[in-house]
Amino acid sequence: MLTAAYKSATLSPTAGPNVVRSSLKQTPIAEHLFTWPTDQPQLIGSRCSDCGVVTFPSQGSCPKCTSQSVTEALLPRRGTLWTFTTQEFLPKTPPYAGTESAEDFTPYGVGYVELPDHVMVESRLTESDPHRLRIGMPMELVIEPFRSDAAGDEVMSFAFRPVEAR
Ligand SMILES: [Zn+2]
Repeated sequence: MLTAAYKSATLSPTAGPNVVRSSLKQTPIAEHLFTWPTDQPQLIGSRCSDCGVVTFPSQGSCPKCTSQSVTEALLPRRGTLWTFTTQEFLPKTPPYAGTESAEDFTPYGVGYVELPDHVMVESRLTESDPHRLRIGMPMELVIEPFRSDAAGDEVMSFAFRPVEAR
């Protein structure tokens, strides 16, 4: 159900929530995963025209009723944290797509974010401190660099960050 590219995206280290733009060339980790560049990025899912089920990443047929009548759906940017964990050590490669070593590995958060329309998205989190995460907290989509490719360009992926209390 998940594409290889999507799995890689979710298993990658974070470069920090505020580092979004730089002078480096930036390319998305996969086509048709999120809208970008934009200040209001959205994940690209699909919606079944027959039963209304929404999926992410987008699929060519409905996983519930098998209808082929699915259309692209831009998902809401905000949701709530459904559950989470933190990755405290360097995962095995593959499937891990990061380029750091065990020495310079930085822990990162991974979680499920429930968006309106009852779609659940597995995602990297910008916050890796479990004491600053709680189930049910509001989360918002961000696009950020997560590694550099062979040419030194930044590969961009999506993550969810806690919405600051105002
Ligand atoms: Zn359906």
